[in-house]
Amino acid sequence: MTQHSGRCPLCEGEKAPGVTTFAVDLGHGVVMVRRVPAQVCALCGEAWLDDAVTQKLEAIVDRAREAQAMVEVTDWPDVA
Ligand SMILES: [Zn+2]
Repeated sequence: MTQHSGRCPLCEGEKAPGVTTFAVDLGHGVVMVRRVPAQVCALCGEAWLDDAVTQKLEAIVDRAREAQAMVEVTDWPDVA
C-alpha cells in the first residue's frame, strides 16, 4: 500500500500549504473567513483543512449564529 498523504484524494494532485476562503450560509446570514490555513491541491484547487482548523471554524460559525449577523467576514489571524 503506497502512502498518499501528500496527494489529493480526489485527483491525486500535489497538495501544498496555502490558504483558502471558508464560507457557510446559515440561512439568516453568511459567514466568511478569509486566509484560512489549508492544504491546497495544485491540480483541482480543493482545500483540505486539518482538525484543529475545522474546530476553530465551527466556533466562529457558532458565534456568528448567536450574533444573528447578516454578513460576517473575518480574516483568520484576527480570530481569537
Ligand atoms: Zn485535487
